[in-house]
Amino acid sequence: MKPVEPAVTLVRMSPDADELIASAAKLCYAGDTSEILRQDPQRAGDFVRMLKKIGHLSPIEHAVFTFYIEGVSRAMTHQLVRHRIASFSQRSQRYVGHADFDYVVPPRLRGRRVRVGDKEIDAVEYFRQTMELIADRYRSLNEALGDEGESSHEDARYVLPNACETKIFVTMNARELLHFFEERLCQRAQWEIRTVAEKMLSLIRGSCPAIFETAGPKCVRLGGCPEGKMTCGRFSEVRARYAPGG
Ligand SMILES: Cc1cc2nc3c(=O)[nH]c(=O)nc-3n(C[C@H](O)[C@H](O)[C@H](O)COP(=O)(O)OP(=O)(O)OC[C@H]3O[C@@H](n4cnc5c(N)ncnc54)[C@H](O)[C@@H]3O)c2cc1C
Repeated sequence: MKPVEPAVTLVRMSPDADELIASAAKLCYAGDTSEILRQDPQRAGDFVRMLKKIGHLSPIEHAVFTFYIEGVSRAMTHQLVRHRIASFSQRSQRYVGHADFDYVVPPRLRGRRVRVGDKEIDAVEYFRQTMELIADRYRSLNEALGDEGESSHEDARYVLPNACETKIFVTMNARELLHFFEERLCQRAQWEIRTVAEKMLSLIRGSCPAIFETAGPKCVRLGGCPEGKMTCGRFSEVRARYAPGG
């Protein structure tokens, strides 16, 4: 058992995504289709920018991206899988035993103290002890359930914490990714999914600039925060971070 941190790998992406999108979009009004699969990369990039500007977004759905995400908590993936226009494959807590699960420690616990009776102990150490205790209980329950693999794991896992490390494959198309970034790069999004979203964007922004150069939290596209009183109050800083040239 050990503490872990988010790691994101770009497994696959549609090759020549700009040309692919341009081919698909231009087909819509092509009388002569003989050259439809041959698109100049530079012009295709400009064409994708134009599609985004006018809001003709369905052609960008043809470009898809697959990520392998590990070192993340179940708390994070519970939020991730709410994004319905995506495909997921997640390591099972039924097929895979979790007697020695790794776990994610919220960084804000660092430097804090927890009162236990008349003593105070380091919050990260307290967290670690809690994970060890839960793992111990998991092992005991798994044994009580007959240690039969899948049929024991599926009930013993009920004591596993939100912090339990998990691994997940996710595939999203470019349109869904832009939406995902708008929601999850917002400063109000939870820190772990925001960290994962940051890593995902950094893996694809350089290779598909026409699609992702404007990607960021929705305030950047809207020109201001729509959250009213719940705003983070840092629009200028956020825009400088994500806006093209920012
Ligand atoms: C800061 C933050 C706080 C949150 N807090 C909570 C919370 O307290 N409780 C909670 O339950 N959730 C919460 N969520 C999750 C949120 O409500 C959404 O479930 C999640 O962000 C997925 O967004 P989505 O539905 O827009 O996107 P996706 O599922 O990725 O879908 C993309 C888009 O497709 C369209 N679409 C998809 N499915 C349908 C459909 N069935 N019908 C019509 N249109 C559809 C919509 O336009 C949608 O925006 C929170 C999210 C954020 C970012």
